[in-house]
Amino acid sequence: MTECTNTDFEITFWGVRGTLASPGRQFQRTGGNTICAEVRCGSRIIVFDAGTGIRELGSRIVEQGRIHRLDLMFTHVHYDHIEGVPFFAPFFSPDYEIDVWMGHLDGSGSTSESMRGLMRRPYFPVGPEVFSAKTRYREVERNQTIDLGDGIMVRTAPLNHPGGATGYRVEYEGKSFAFITDTEHVPGKTDRNVVKLLKDVDLFVYDASFTDAELPDFAGYGHSTWEEGMRLRAKANAGAFLSIHHMPFRTDDELDAIEAAIREEHAQSGVAREAMSIRL
Ligand SMILES: [Zn+2]
Ligand SMILES: [Zn+2]
Repeated sequence: MTECTNTDFEITFWGVRGTLASPGRQFQRTGGNTICAEVRCGSRIIVFDAGTGIRELGSRIVEQGRIHRLDLMFTHVHYDHIEGVPFFAPFFSPDYEIDVWMGHLDGSGSTSESMRGLMRRPYFPVGPEVFSAKTRYREVERNQTIDLGDGIMVRTAPLNHPGGATGYRVEYEGKSFAFITDTEHVPGKTDRNVVKLLKDVDLFVYDASFTDAELPDFAGYGHSTWEEGMRLRAKANAGAFLSIHHMPFRTDDELDAIEAAIREEHAQSGVAREAMSIRL
């Protein structure tokens, strides 16, 4: 098997929708799949979350047949972030080595217990023992630095979400990318954990389920706003910001308007959309 030997650092979005998948013409340009992002670092792939978008990513990885070493890192195990797990093709091939990472969040046990919990009867016909990939279950701690090897470092931070969630930052070849969803901010207060994780980052995605105007009606839901994403960008001296975790009711036209407002402040920032690829 031939592995990629380049040093590319590329992020591709396979699902950007939060809460529930949203098929339908009014959502098509942004995409209706739930959360999944692929981060290619040279000959390695890190996948953040396994929403419905991961199915297509899995097929693509197998079809290309170039990269066989994968890390699947979960922010948390709410349905919109895990429902694609049993449909990720590399799990069903002995050619793949997959490390699955999860945090110890409220109500969840070890990563292996959580995986067994999300694939079991009566919710699903078979358990993860059907996987033929070399699958290892790894645990993520708060504020951890993980050396993934091949020059890839990952840092974590706790997020403010019911039951907890983990934010991630990937460093590779002198560039950085952060993946931050699901989290809620307290209006007027800065989340220091998030700012620390975002400090000088080149690109980050951030939970923008709501707008500042909508947030008071959804206090305690565990989500944030695109306006807070922009404030965090400034506070952390970060590069570009992309909003993610779009609510299932948010139409393409509404997201276009949000993107226009974001770009008025910073031309390189915007809205994450399915199939969008960015090379750092
Ligand atoms: Zn979510
Ligand atoms: Zn959640």
